[in-house]
Amino acid sequence: MAIAPDENELLTKDSFEGGGIAVSDEPEVNSVAADEALWQEDTATAMDKDEHATEEHERSQQGINYPVAFWLVLLHVGALAAPFCFSWQGLVVCLALYWFNGSIGVCLGYHRLLTHGSFKVHRVTRYIIAFLGGLSGEGQAIDWVANHRKHHAHSDHDGDPHTPRDGGIWAHMIWMCWSLRGQHYTDHVNRWAPDLAKDPVMRWIGHMFLPSHILSGFALLGIGYWMGGGYMAASMLVWGLFVRLIIVLHVTWFVNSWAHMWGYRNYETTDDSRNNWLVAILAFGEGWHNNHHAYPRMASQGHKWWEFDGTYVIIRMMKWTGLAWDVVDYKKISDRKK
Ligand SMILES: [Zn+2]
Ligand SMILES: [Zn+2]
Repeated sequence: MAIAPDENELLTKDSFEGGGIAVSDEPEVNSVAADEALWQEDTATAMDKDEHATEEHERSQQGINYPVAFWLVLLHVGALAAPFCFSWQGLVVCLALYWFNGSIGVCLGYHRLLTHGSFKVHRVTRYIIAFLGGLSGEGQAIDWVANHRKHHAHSDHDGDPHTPRDGGIWAHMIWMCWSLRGQHYTDHVNRWAPDLAKDPVMRWIGHMFLPSHILSGFALLGIGYWMGGGYMAASMLVWGLFVRLIIVLHVTWFVNSWAHMWGYRNYETTDDSRNNWLVAILAFGEGWHNNHHAYPRMASQGHKWWEFDGTYVIIRMMKWTGLAWDVVDYKKISDRKK
């Protein structure tokens, strides 16, 4: 299943432009998503053009973002109740939603579709997937995408919002407690996610972030109560919402921390990205992070036969069923050259 680019091909073409990012700027690939604004190409050379490389300074100047900090503390405190209201039904719902939010919402949706344009889908599918990504507890798509594109453009260099070079725990979760505000925030999203920021539906989905979590909490409570009274209601809420979100959050954050600290490298990128098998298992293929930094737009992140990428399996299934098309696949470009 892996689409493995020829390593020599990677190392010989001009894929190391910009600071800290290794990308393929194949014209054939960029044309695939030419109507989706084009961030993929721009990100590659962002270091050359970016005049806002002092994000850490700006963030620290603006102090703690209390709503974000409160949200993260709330979820962790809620998850502490898990041992007191365990049920097998709650665990099953937790794991099912962990996959649904983690693999479909974040890995496939926020990351490969919205950030990198690794494949195309119908507009309605795109919005549904963005909504599912929002249910992961990781904020609205516009913010997620802007931060991640900036991470790629500055990976492990000045301007990277979350590099372990600033500390492992910083890269894991602390960085997001200092958010840009006001004009700084507007400039940030307009700079890094203009395609999403200008989309009124995407902005509306973003406004639904908190209401959708509150509604899903009540839905879990209601389903649990219907299934087995008060205890089951509490179990569904705690395991289906709080524990699930904590798992999804930390697994995603492992990509930013562990996969930039520990693991092996297939490609000599100019960042610290690593392929970490444990993160790859937990994060549905996203742990093959060195592969991803080498080829950010490639839909498949597993480049060796043993690098299983569960999210890519879903993308292939979407392609077979007609839900997705124009899946970015560098191997095909190599084949065309022969
Ligand atoms: Zn990274
Ligand atoms: Zn990425």
